[in-house]
Amino acid sequence: MADLIDQAQVREAQFLAAAMARRTPIAEVPEGIAIGCTYCIACGVLIPEARLRAVQGACRCAGCQAQFDVRGRDD
Ligand SMILES: [Zn+2]
Repeated sequence: MADLIDQAQVREAQFLAAAMARRTPIAEVPEGIAIGCTYCIACGVLIPEARLRAVQGACRCAGCQAQFDVRGRDD
C-alpha cells in the first residue's frame, strides 16, 4: 500500500513540475495580455496570442475550451 502512495506522490510531483515548466514567466508576457497560460492545459498546444488578447487569462485553446464548455471537463 505504501508503495502505491509513494508512486502517486512521485507522479504528482512530476505533473506539477511539468505544469510549472509550461507557464510563462511574468516578465515574458506581452503587454496587454493577462497573466494566464501560454500552452493549453488540456492538449498542450501553444495558445495563439490573438486568443490570449481576446480572452484574458485563457488557459485552453479554442477547440479545447469549446469541448470543455460542452462536457464540463477536459479529456
Ligand atoms: Zn487545447
